[in-house]
Amino acid sequence: MNPIDKLIKNRKLTKDGYVELLNCIEKDEMAVRITDEAVLLRKKYYGNKVYTRGLIEFTNYCRNNCFYCGIRRDNQTVSRYRLSLQEILSCCQRGYELGFRTFVLQGGEDPYFTDERMVKIIYSVKERYPDCALTLSIGEKTYDSYRRFREAGADRYLLRHETADQVHYRKIHPKEMSLAVRKQCLYHLKTLGYQVGAGFMVGSPGQTYRELAQDLVFLQELQPQMVGIGPFIPHHSTRFAEEPPGSVKLTLRLLSIVRILLPQALIPATTALGTLDPEGREKGLAAGGNVVMPKLSPAIYQKKYELYDGEEAVESMESLARRVEAIGYRLTVDRGDFVPTESI
Ligand code: SAM
Repeated sequence: MNPIDKLIKNRKLTKDGYVELLNCIEKDEMAVRITDEAVLLRKKYYGNKVYTRGLIEFTNYCRNNCFYCGIRRDNQTVSRYRLSLQEILSCCQRGYELGFRTFVLQGGEDPYFTDERMVKIIYSVKERYPDCALTLSIGEKTYDSYRRFREAGADRYLLRHETADQVHYRKIHPKEMSLAVRKQCLYHLKTLGYQVGAGFMVGSPGQTYRELAQDLVFLQELQPQMVGIGPFIPHHSTRFAEEPPGSVKLTLRLLSIVRILLPQALIPATTALGTLDPEGREKGLAAGGNVVMPKLSPAIYQKKYELYDGEEAVESMESLARRVEAIGYRLTVDRGDFVPTESI
């Protein structure tokens, strides 16, 4: 059986099977089946609904030094900022009025935001917006910290694994960071009952189909409820400034593959896709994505939260809704939780 049929039938492959699949779908005519199947599954479980998450990038301070990231610790050219609790709450208020029922608090690993401060923020958001889901994306923490955040009301956690291959991980991270810790964090989050998001960049320096195959095998094992996949985009003040960006086409194909192996996952059409391609968001939805994450943080801070070069065009919710409708989908006012309806 060819790897496309095998994936569609079994919803899983071996690492070699994924490499074979990625080679096979280089041809557009072969990729069509993968995309069609992804769209079929996406419609089966989510109809034409697209969930919105309001992204609040509340700090660009970071204690980490990931080689690819524009806000890494040693980048002296970044103008650093932190949002106050009041500013975070006013972003939520604006988002709530626009129809958002999920807020995503994302930031660098900023030591200023101690567990006590985070717990206070989580309580405050959940107290004011009890009908909304709160997602955190603040990096690697201890089990105990994750437990405290969960008890304070956090519902979901986004922590891309970035790459599941040990050798590749070392090429794009400094030695004090570890893939084992990253993976352990994801398992801790699952144990604590968070809806968990893993994911990876496509086209990060040193990545081949073998590393991508490893990422897919890891997703199979972890079974996350959410998966974020975006192209790598170089940032001018990193060692990877001259590296080429990841391929939009390959990113879309991977998104479709992930939809097939995790049919009910919540998968965003990522900002990085929208940055590399003006129609990236629509293409992400048409490839099997079912989430968009517009930014709610004030425009002056959005420019400072620069992970990579380039910007996604900012647009109003009306225009986003129109664009989504133009491709046959509909933005929905809903928390958009992961609710498994059946085991497949
Ligand atoms: N600190 C948190 C963490 O580690 O998960 C969240 C913030 S981190 C900046 C958010 C995501 O940005 C990362 O998971 C990474 O995949 C993505 N990112 C960083 N630099 C990037 C780049 N140059 N191109 C594309 N994505 C990038």
